[in-house]
Amino acid sequence: MSAAAAAPDEGKILSRVAAPEEAQFERQLRPRSFEEYVGQEQAVASLRVSVEAAKLRRECVDHVLLYGPPGLGKTTLAGIIANEMGTSLVPTSGPAIERGAELMGILTNLAEHDVLFIDEVHRLPRPVEELLYPAMEDFAVNFVIDKGMHARTLKYALRPFTLVAATTRPGMLSAPLRERFGIFHHLDFYSDAELTRIVTRSAAILESPLEPAGARELARRSRGTPRIVNRLLRRVRDYALVKGEGTVTEDIAHRALDSEGVDARGLDRLDRRFLDAIIDRYKGGPVGLEAVAATINDDAETLSEMVEPYLLKIGFVVRTPKGRCATREAYQHLGKQPPARAPGQQGLFG
Ligand code: ADP
Repeated sequence: MSAAAAAPDEGKILSRVAAPEEAQFERQLRPRSFEEYVGQEQAVASLRVSVEAAKLRRECVDHVLLYGPPGLGKTTLAGIIANEMGTSLVPTSGPAIERGAELMGILTNLAEHDVLFIDEVHRLPRPVEELLYPAMEDFAVNFVIDKGMHARTLKYALRPFTLVAATTRPGMLSAPLRERFGIFHHLDFYSDAELTRIVTRSAAILESPLEPAGARELARRSRGTPRIVNRLLRRVRDYALVKGEGTVTEDIAHRALDSEGVDARGLDRLDRRFLDAIIDRYKGGPVGLEAVAATINDDAETLSEMVEPYLLKIGFVVRTPKGRCATREAYQHLGKQPPARAPGQQGLFG
């Protein structure tokens, strides 16, 4: 079977971003306050101080840039900042704003101290991005009226607001935009203990019986990502209802996830195809990301944003100046014989 034929049946487990029908489910589980938000202690502690200080000064919070892989809680944090400030969250995304007029419309409608959340901010078209500069700096937008000799710029004052922007690719942000943020936080993958807490809370909200060992099994297989642990819970509780007694036990979680193609380390088919390509087609690497992408018929951007970060994190892949290499651990996990030169002596590449 070709790689292209394998793609459509990969289902929603593989997608790291939320599918539309998932939005309602995510909203239900989304923490509304700093108390409910699990993990990311450093970012949370610092944002709490920023929010408290802003409230005491009756000002808005400085603009915030959050970066990290999808599903780690960037949108959730933006919502919490708005909640804690007692204002509204106005969500949008880089690709959704095609023209300057659309951004103008959004900015001029913001109420005082509202939080404007722009997801995938690195995808904002450049002319739109340039409109943001005075908006962020002076809370003003410049309208150009008339043309040629008669052209005049009118300054329109905005109500003070906080921009919370999220990106999976901080390196793709232009320097002028990056410089206009006062607060930066990198969100990292979650530990198994944190994901266990998250999924236990989610199960309680959904009133789904979940045994502690079942919660730990889901956490272990969630690629360090809250969105995925919640998604797996949804799948597994259906499985528990149909094939078990309704309670998610360790055994039910184990069987359900195996049948979904999620393996013991939480890798799904896309992860394994990525590793298989490096190992089988390129003898373990080094190989460029573009070549792997072409081999498995996926795009390099998706692989670098959504697949590779976790494989790097668990040390299954290393980046070298010549390209990506699969490590000894990756070979072992896939039950393949590593060549003598495979990188990754235990602990060397964390
Ligand atoms: P991102 O914007 O980074 O893609 P989201 O903020 O949309 O991620 O989070 C995805 C889902 O994961 C949310 O619906 C939320 O329920 C859950 N989630 C994310 N971070 C946390 C957290 N720290 N604690 C509890 N749940 C979380």
